[in-house]
Amino acid sequence: MTKMQKAIIYKGPGTFAYEERPIPEIRHCDDIRIKIYGCAICGTDVNIFATPQKHPCKEDIIFGHEFCGEVEQVGSAVTNLKIGDKVIIDPHGPCGYCDNCLAGLPEACENVFIGADSQFEGQALSMGVFADGGLTRYAVLPAKFAYKVGPDTKPELMGLAEPLAGCGYAIEKLNVHVGDTACVLGAGPIGLMFTALLKASGCRKIIVSDPVEYRRNKALEIGATKVVNPDTEDVGKVVSEETEGLGVDHCIEAVGPLIQDCIDYVRPRGKVLQYGHDELARPQIEVGTLLKKEVELHSGFLGKYYMRKVGQIIESGILPLEKILTHVIPASRYQEALDLAASYQCGKIFVSMDL
Ligand SMILES: [Zn+2]
Ligand SMILES: [Zn+2]
Repeated sequence: MTKMQKAIIYKGPGTFAYEERPIPEIRHCDDIRIKIYGCAICGTDVNIFATPQKHPCKEDIIFGHEFCGEVEQVGSAVTNLKIGDKVIIDPHGPCGYCDNCLAGLPEACENVFIGADSQFEGQALSMGVFADGGLTRYAVLPAKFAYKVGPDTKPELMGLAEPLAGCGYAIEKLNVHVGDTACVLGAGPIGLMFTALLKASGCRKIIVSDPVEYRRNKALEIGATKVVNPDTEDVGKVVSEETEGLGVDHCIEAVGPLIQDCIDYVRPRGKVLQYGHDELARPQIEVGTLLKKEVELHSGFLGKYYMRKVGQIIESGILPLEKILTHVIPASRYQEALDLAASYQCGKIFVSMDL
């Protein structure tokens, strides 16, 4: 008889359900099965459950992509992992065969987001968004998408791996130097991760803007040198005052539609990073300002090359991740976790597995 496990299933816009699903079996010699510790809530999850929906998701899959756990079973060809190893997961593992993968652009893998059963053996698709994910007891995936971390690593911090990999990979494009100045628009978990990365990179000024007081206070805790409420203060004026009228070296967009503000706040030849992920956003851009300032525009959203390093960052304790992770809520109270995430009165939430 097939053994079953309880799982959180995405049931279409705004809804999920607890349902029984078969415990998955290893299918390929290079697969592993992991026992899941839990799964963090992503801004993407909030967007998927938002009305109107701001990110697509396949119905009837096991939800949740920022999961982690320990190896419970290994396929016959797995040599890099053994039973009991703690692992962080790349839930969007690239196929390795498509033109973009072969061109060294696994972030743009053509087969990760197709949302159908893979034509490539061993490919994970985007787990927890377009294929079965991590809000359950066990998951099977190719060993190459799992990265070992030390035995003392805290599960709730391991849950930060996937978003932190995206942020770490993206910020490398800015080439931040000691003594630089920066501005971060948005102090949700992603804005907070960028704040921590900028601090660790040696920025002397980090101005963080967010309308929510809880998040501004978090930003200060994590290393912001100045916080601004965009609802009551003129962010551009503050940036100007803080930088002797020049503008910041780097401005990171961690909201969605604010790229023009970033263009306004950077110095000539400053660097802008679009990272806020709102698929409905259609911001207008002033072409004149963009070209006269010779702004360098960057963007990013996944960090496949960065997963190994993220494991090392989490283990090392060099970033104040314990301050970014603000809540642990069991999966049996998932609605509560989603409501909290949507209220903005939190940093990162880890949903621990108790199903
Ligand atoms: Zn995510
Ligand atoms: Zn590919």
